[in-house]
Amino acid sequence: VYIYLGCTLSQSFNPDIHHSPVIKMGWLHKTPPQGTLVFQKRWVMLDAQYLRYFQNEKEVYSKRIIAILSVTKVLNVGGQKFEVVTRNRTFLFRAENNSKCSRASRVSLISKQGYLEMSGLRSKLYVVICADSVFLCRNAEEHSQGVGITSIEMNLGAVKGTDKRSFNLTTIYRTFSFVAESEQQREQWVEALQACVSHSLSSNAVAQKIWSEEANQRCADCGAPHPDWASVNLCVVLCKCCAGVHRGLGQSVSKVRSLKMDENAWTENQLFLLLGNDKVNLFWAANIPPSEMLCPSSDSEERQRFVTAKYCQGKYRCYHALFGQQEALNKALCNTIQTGDVLETLSLVFCGADVNCYTGDPELPSPVSVAQHYGQTLQVEFLTHNHNTGRSNETKAALPISHTGYLFKTASSTRAVTEHFSRRWCSLNQGNFSYYESEKSSSQSGQMKMSDVLCLVVNPQGKHGYGHSFELYHDSGRVYLFGEDSPDTVREWIKVIGKALVPPVAEDLVGWSFERVGRLRYTAGQSFHCPCLGWFSLGGSRLLLLLHGEDQVDNIDLRKLQELSMEQEAAAVVLVDRGRRLRLEGDRRPDYQGWLSGIQQGLGRGDGPLDQQQLTETEVPVIVDRCISYITQHVVMCLFMGGFSSPFPGLKSEGIYRRCGVNSKIAALLLSLRHDARQVRLSEGVCQVDNVANVLKRFLREVGEGVFNGHQASLPWLHTTSDERERVSQYKALLHSLPPVNRATLGAVINHLYCVQCFADENQMNMHNLAIVFGPTLFQTDGTDNSAGQVVEELIQNYQDIFNVSGSAVSAEELVCEVLRRGNIPPQQGDYWSCFLVNDNQEMERPLHYQERALAIYFSLGKDCHLVVKRNCYMEAMLIYIAAMVDVSRNSMIKFSDEKGQRGKRTFSRRLCVLDGTSLRLYKEVKSTQPERECQVHALKVYYGIKKRLQPPSCWGMTVVCEQAERDKQQWYLCCESKNELIKWLATFMNLQVPSPSPTLIIPSKSREGFILQYSPLPHPHPLYPTRAETVSFYSILK
Ligand SMILES: [Zn+2]
Repeated sequence: VYIYLGCTLSQSFNPDIHHSPVIKMGWLHKTPPQGTLVFQKRWVMLDAQYLRYFQNEKEVYSKRIIAILSVTKVLNVGGQKFEVVTRNRTFLFRAENNSKCSRASRVSLISKQGYLEMSGLRSKLYVVICADSVFLCRNAEEHSQGVGITSIEMNLGAVKGTDKRSFNLTTIYRTFSFVAESEQQREQWVEALQACVSHSLSSNAVAQKIWSEEANQRCADCGAPHPDWASVNLCVVLCKCCAGVHRGLGQSVSKVRSLKMDENAWTENQLFLLLGNDKVNLFWAANIPPSEMLCPSSDSEERQRFVTAKYCQGKYRCYHALFGQQEALNKALCNTIQTGDVLETLSLVFCGADVNCYTGDPELPSPVSVAQHYGQTLQVEFLTHNHNTGRSNETKAALPISHTGYLFKTASSTRAVTEHFSRRWCSLNQGNFSYYESEKSSSQSGQMKMSDVLCLVVNPQGKHGYGHSFELYHDSGRVYLFGEDSPDTVREWIKVIGKALVPPVAEDLVGWSFERVGRLRYTAGQSFHCPCLGWFSLGGSRLLLLLHGEDQVDNIDLRKLQELSMEQEAAAVVLVDRGRRLRLEGDRRPDYQGWLSGIQQGLGRGDGPLDQQQLTETEVPVIVDRCISYITQHVVMCLFMGGFSSPFPGLKSEGIYRRCGVNSKIAALLLSLRHDARQVRLSEGVCQVDNVANVLKRFLREVGEGVFNGHQASLPWLHTTSDERERVSQYKALLHSLPPVNRATLGAVINHLYCVQCFADENQMNMHNLAIVFGPTLFQTDGTDNSAGQVVEELIQNYQDIFNVSGSAVSAEELVCEVLRRGNIPPQQGDYWSCFLVNDNQEMERPLHYQERALAIYFSLGKDCHLVVKRNCYMEAMLIYIAAMVDVSRNSMIKFSDEKGQRGKRTFSRRLCVLDGTSLRLYKEVKSTQPERECQVHALKVYYGIKKRLQPPSCWGMTVVCEQAERDKQQWYLCCESKNELIKWLATFMNLQVPSPSPTLIIPSKSREGFILQYSPLPHPHPLYPTRAETVSFYSILK
């Protein structure tokens, strides 16, 4: 006996209106009648006949009821609002978010929809069979807006075929005559309509039987009363809202049946009586946090989230004790199915037991055969429902992808794509993409497995005559083209196909607006053998990749590629990115050609704006970088190389950037740089420095949008702000407002100009002169406005401040690494490189501690000092000595001198020198108790060497600078008898001053990779000041 359980929570199950199921309900905001701005929150319910709203969800009687047939239209008015227009009043509703708004009119119980001709009408009607009713609409769009012509209650209807393609729907009031597109279509419509009639008339026999188990009177997921749906493999009885979500997960996860409509499915339904929602939920819903619980009024997003978590991820389930032990699970399954314990079977199967496992018995090889043998029909039923769900469990946690809809499709082709499109019903399900003549065609016109699809290509808008289109490249070499004008439709298809195409771990590849995604074979490094399969997606200048065995998507900025080369015969392309070499191979020619041209387009082009240029790692266009490097090398470096036999004798650089160069050569050089700057090597003899300087100027002057990105030279504050600090902060703000590439380019140019003006004595180009040239160039003005020059001059003047060149942040270690990197000096085993502070005609030098702020020191140096990066020839011996050292302190006789009290001739005299963890002490005599000199170890700076004019008694000397107090800076000269002696002293100093193990040195790892890994490029965004040139000689960071 069916007893209605009254429920005040929702009226949707009131027996009186039960024949018209709720399509959508939830909270909406509604404008009050007088049209004030205050929205009222209302519980809104939509069914096939009425739109009603209530004070709250518990209310039985509505505040307002609007007959759907009185609604003339429903308009989406934006801002998450929609209007329901009736003849005498317009109701404005506002949803909490867009998805609710768009879903507000989406019908969830549609069993069939499509266009049909109706006799007496010129145009086709869009007919929708939904639950117990048939809706007639002008077109699909109207229907999607929730508007239609009429609805026909099918409990009053009868359906009968009249001709090959025609059929009648007869009600007591009227007969509707329809004509389908084909005979097959007619059959489908008649079948669906008859199902609708029988559903509307259906007895509740099955439902009532299942509901006789009390636990089944509430939805297993949300608790709504009288659930008349069920998932036959998951063994849960569901309400229609939850059933809709289950259906969306696909058959492989949940097989949804109606208790009322799918009568055939219920010949044996004792399984649901045996188990019941409560018992099954002991497994499925053992651990639900209260915050994640569903209730009957939960919205569709919450349902989606919950149902996915519950069944796809098994998030709330009660883990079986054998979870994770595949063999044990399978064995337990084979035993359990011999008993009647279906609940245990369910627990085993959904914790990983394989329903298709081999039982070990050749007579009864599968679990199903065992269950049959033991007469366990319910076990057989359960196993059969889960037989082909393909659930191999934990690895398959990702949501199965399914999607359907109409698309326009061309015939597949191996050649150029034809543009003859036909409308096809497409379906993506369980990794299969298939298409049909129409939605209800039973036989598909074609199908492809997603695993056979090499590549998905998103076409530019409007290509092939459709607003939006995409192509699938099949392994067979065929190309499939699909189009649609609606961007949303195509975007959704691209999203689901992309997801179905790539493995779950590569999902990041499709989470952005890519142009193509797919797989390619590749080899990495120098190897040409055994290519691996990698996943790639490409859009603009970004190439995302997931290489074999990796679990994270990597990212290549194609503008920054160091090298790109094509191997025409092998159909392969080689990319070198950050020292990594990747060789991509094309699986099929059309596919590979697409990747190739996509990559080439992403490389950067010389005629584009700054951010589309080929870039260096520091985001500076390669053209700019090449020119500046060349000029720096020739103009700045040659001045210093003079002492070391300059390779550029006689180069006159006076007036650099002023002289005009040879126009034809400038044009040719700029052309080749714009074509592919990376391939151009500016070399002496071919290029004249003036030509290169003019190429740089011309490029900056002509580049799209300019370095200042359209900012005017006449900045409004330029003439009003006189405070220098204020101006600097204004410049900083200006800089900050530029796009990154423009900012980096400006930084590089101003850095370069700063360096050039440092040598104004030699090249005659001071800040002012440079600014006159570069103002109009950078601002792309004609030069009549002199504020452009003023800006550039002030930028040069305040370069360090404005560009935040905190040279002091660069440590000695970073400096050494950078110099080695730029000098392309591969480290050798046993090489120890240090940055030395070199004094006084290179007579004394101090290796910097690796953490010392090298450039801060550099800036504080006098004119006769410089920094040098070079091999530390004492280091190996010192390390050997330290390794063997027993005592960390040292004392022995040494020859000593200092500058104090030495008039005229300096003398070195013997002292006992004691060095320990606290101080360095010098005693006049061995027996002295009071030291003559003393300095704390931490206040000592030890230089190798002694000034020659002091006439040290041997060449094994060291100069110790003691800086105990600001004003008390002393220099002591200590001279050893032998090199060995000196090394012992230096090693003792180093050991005491420097925390072990790594002192002022680079200890290269055995492999080059290790070196790169350990000392990768500077974290510093700007090039080292002022060592601009990439070609800087490693020993010449000079002042
Ligand atoms: Zn439910």
